[in-house]
Amino acid sequence: MNLKMMSLGKKPSVIREIFEYSNRRKAQIGAENVFDFSLGNPSIPAPKAVNDAIVSLVSEGNSVALHGYTSAAGDMAVRTKIAENIKSRFGADASAQNIYMTCGAAASLTVSLKAVCNEGDEVILLAPYFPEYDVFVENANAVSVAVCGVGNNFDLDLSALEKAISEKTAAIIINSPNNPTGNVISAEQIEALAALLKEKSKEYKKSIYIIADEPYRELTYGVEVPYIPNYYDNTIVCYSYSKSLSLPGERIGYIFVSPKCEGASDIFAAVCGAGRSLGFVCAPSLMQRVAMECDGMTADISEYDKNRRLLYDSLTEMGYTAVEPKGAFYLFVKSLEEDANAFCERAKKYELLLVPSDSFGAEGYVRISYCVAYDTIKRSLSAFKALYDEYEVK
Ligand code: PLP
Repeated sequence: MNLKMMSLGKKPSVIREIFEYSNRRKAQIGAENVFDFSLGNPSIPAPKAVNDAIVSLVSEGNSVALHGYTSAAGDMAVRTKIAENIKSRFGADASAQNIYMTCGAAASLTVSLKAVCNEGDEVILLAPYFPEYDVFVENANAVSVAVCGVGNNFDLDLSALEKAISEKTAAIIINSPNNPTGNVISAEQIEALAALLKEKSKEYKKSIYIIADEPYRELTYGVEVPYIPNYYDNTIVCYSYSKSLSLPGERIGYIFVSPKCEGASDIFAAVCGAGRSLGFVCAPSLMQRVAMECDGMTADISEYDKNRRLLYDSLTEMGYTAVEPKGAFYLFVKSLEEDANAFCERAKKYELLLVPSDSFGAEGYVRISYCVAYDTIKRSLSAFKALYDEYEVK
């Protein structure tokens, strides 16, 4: 038995532990009395077009073809449509030969990392970051190097990045809009990062890839999310429909290897090889078809926006400090004591279930997932106030 895998399987993530606690507590005191802000599970329904597409596809009659294997990289018509959309939506060059269909962003990342990393390579992660990145990087026999963001919004720290890049750096993962901060990296920052990576690639005579993890691309509130392949050639986009179409359980997404990558066709071959080696071939066939019909659509995110405003405005008015989220559905709030874990324990007294930032590679904050009912947020505000007052009195 592989002991490392066993311990990974046995060790529940912090978020999962809170989820289990939440279920126990709900059974004890009633679901409506627990304010569970732990999970990033979309709370708004998939667009009607998704259900319509499913109904129409399964009614078409050719169920053998519909439910059968597609080619390993995905159905050609699906990949062609997605590539056309990339061209028309973002003005980036793309063709079906650059698209590999996957089971969501997690699979896209695992496959992409395996495709670009060799044993002992380093992958730069921008803290705070999605905790599973460490697991995915290790799976690619590479090593995570965390670089924390700066300022109130955890923006890119270019000088720290410059120091962190070495001859071993294979890639840097960019996640914008970000989980857990809700921050969106501006075009100016991406330009500066691209310039730095070009300089370092030249210095070390190797390609350094940006892996753009984009499950939240469409979840934005009045800001543009720069399309990284338009700024940096060696970019691999890991896209997922989990959040944009509220389809996380259906496991569908894709990898886009920019044709501007050096040796793009070899990198795409490495993606196919990594998919093969990890068993991520032929993403769910019905969902590939749904993606073809609904690519570019977004669930009605006005409810997230309402939640965002209510939570951010109310908490900051009470005296909390938080990153103003420009995208995704998370609020990153400064803990009222140094140890965010102790703060989360205290919040439990008020039935507030928050995630400590340590699990995201940064200390002293908590993440609040606001993909919940508006009413839950409204009713939770007095609990947040009581929690704040407890610290004020001290
Ligand atoms: N990347 C980030 C930043 C996420 O927040 C998530 C899920 O929450 C994923 C990747 C995985 O997404 P998927 O459900 O598409 O695998």
